[in-house]
Amino acid sequence: MAGMASPSASIALPPIISVKELAVHLERPVTEVIAELMKNGVMATINEDIDYETAAIISADLGATVVPAKTEDAPDALAPLKEDQDAVSRPPVVTVLGHVDHGKTTLLDAIRRTDVAEGESGGITQHIGAYQVSVTPQGGKKERTITFLDTPGHEAFTAMRAHGTKMTDVAILVVAADDGVKPQTIEAINHIKSAAIPYVVAVTKVDKEGADLNRVKQELAEHDVVAEDWGGTIVFAPVSSKTREGLPELLEMVVLVSDIADPKANPAALMSAVVIESRLSRAKGPVATLLVRNGTLRVGDYVVAEDVTGRIRLMEDWHGKRVVAATPGTPVQVAGLSSVPSFGSAVQAATDEKAARTQAALNRRQQSARKMVRTALSAESLKRAVDRGKVKQLPLILVADVAGSLEAIEDSLRKIPQDEVSVQLVQTGVGAISESHVRTAADTGAGIAGFRARVETTAKTLAKQLDVQISPYEIIYQLLDDVRSALESLLPPEIIENEVGSGEVLAIFRTTKTSQIIGCRVEEKKFVGGVDYRVGDTGQEGRVTKLKRVEEVVQEVSAGTECGVTIEGPPVEVGQNITLFRRTEKSRTLAVTT
Ligand code: GDP
Repeated sequence: MAGMASPSASIALPPIISVKELAVHLERPVTEVIAELMKNGVMATINEDIDYETAAIISADLGATVVPAKTEDAPDALAPLKEDQDAVSRPPVVTVLGHVDHGKTTLLDAIRRTDVAEGESGGITQHIGAYQVSVTPQGGKKERTITFLDTPGHEAFTAMRAHGTKMTDVAILVVAADDGVKPQTIEAINHIKSAAIPYVVAVTKVDKEGADLNRVKQELAEHDVVAEDWGGTIVFAPVSSKTREGLPELLEMVVLVSDIADPKANPAALMSAVVIESRLSRAKGPVATLLVRNGTLRVGDYVVAEDVTGRIRLMEDWHGKRVVAATPGTPVQVAGLSSVPSFGSAVQAATDEKAARTQAALNRRQQSARKMVRTALSAESLKRAVDRGKVKQLPLILVADVAGSLEAIEDSLRKIPQDEVSVQLVQTGVGAISESHVRTAADTGAGIAGFRARVETTAKTLAKQLDVQISPYEIIYQLLDDVRSALESLLPPEIIENEVGSGEVLAIFRTTKTSQIIGCRVEEKKFVGGVDYRVGDTGQEGRVTKLKRVEEVVQEVSAGTECGVTIEGPPVEVGQNITLFRRTEKSRTLAVTT
């Protein structure tokens, strides 16, 4: 089908469109468009924005053919650079991952000092979230620069990925020689594999007693991280950040491994960068460390970081030295932004202030449009799960862009406590959401969650016909959050019982089949109407419908007072105790496991 011209004229739609605008394009009443959205589980009002994917589904349903509109000058700044003929090699960006206390921070510090010690005047360094070192490989090869992200840990790594900015080129997996593989080591392995980037293993603390390189190799091999001398492909570098033993070799290995990826960028291209650190500085206002990904960032440039705009006023490298330009792979701290951008935000260059503002507004609209589609997933799958009377299972079909992401999401899903409610992964897939996924979804009542997965046109059409919900995600944790909240809504609520008061039955005035009018003395707390009662400790329960004090209906009677009580439910006898109580329901949350 690809490449074939559409038989009917197609309507070009922008990436984001309001419901009203869509109605105009489709030449349909707004109410019809809103109704169609509702059928798809998207609750949108006339002025709300929806994204292209949603608009396309709705349009198809209303019999229109749509295509994405060509935007004049919005090149995908973060698209792969492979096709760029003018791209040249840039410094690789390296992240350190591993279990807590295995020496990530110490290693990053030791590496940082490599350069500083050799620098002329003991160079003042500032922590800006990243730094660079020069490495001269043996064998007379030319000097190379490596950029290290010095916020170790998985969050940095996942946030980068989550924001669609796959910034890390090479990872260093840190495993302490005296401690071996630990839970976060395994998590780190999963992160690295899902990012599909090359990595080396740094076996740290080799100076320590109890250091056992072979044990580490053995344990890692069990997780498919096999050392070269064990017949695998992964480079292992034993190091000590204390004695600095093995550090030069580790850096050389990083250069070697990054050469395989050979990261490139074009310094003359449109500038794009990513925010790797940001804060509000008293002296400078909002400051952010930007890692330039493509093009060149210059003082005076207008930029947009998601919904934050700015003009670069001041730029400093990690030594705290003022610079006027930063090329790809270089981290710089900048001032001049309107507010503090969030970690992982993609930064784009803009031609002037107006363009920057327009782009920021578009980004903001895009964010809220995505949010709306996402809520559709939980609502819809939830309804299905309940409708089918299934025992608290959330059927889900998961399709991800690559096997690595799929694996990472599945892993995270497994970590959600599943004893009372669970995710039932009906089917998983890699690449695109196809007709077969939609059919399975219709058969099983599952929702389809796509992580950066394309939706085949035929699948979209079929999904409409079969009333199957497809929810696209760009960010892993949002997908996980939605699944988690959907599961939480399936949890039976916690019943909380609050005692209102208790008293003794003094007299029976009247008894019918279903009710009694009795006389009581309130002994503890108070009596109120419209609550439940329990007879002594028989466990029998009924309802208090009316309270009377001296022939007058009252809402409340306090302790030490006598009153008339109308009850509906099990009858009581003189001398028995009755307890009045209230039951409330509290929605529950699933325990968070790390
Ligand atoms: P992180 O949590 O992975 O960042 O670990 P740290 O870098 O904070 O290191 C944890 C502890 O291990 C600290 O007390 C370090 O001094 C110690 N440590 C780190 N690297 C080495 C090393 O190469 N040799 C020795 N003997 N101790 C180390």
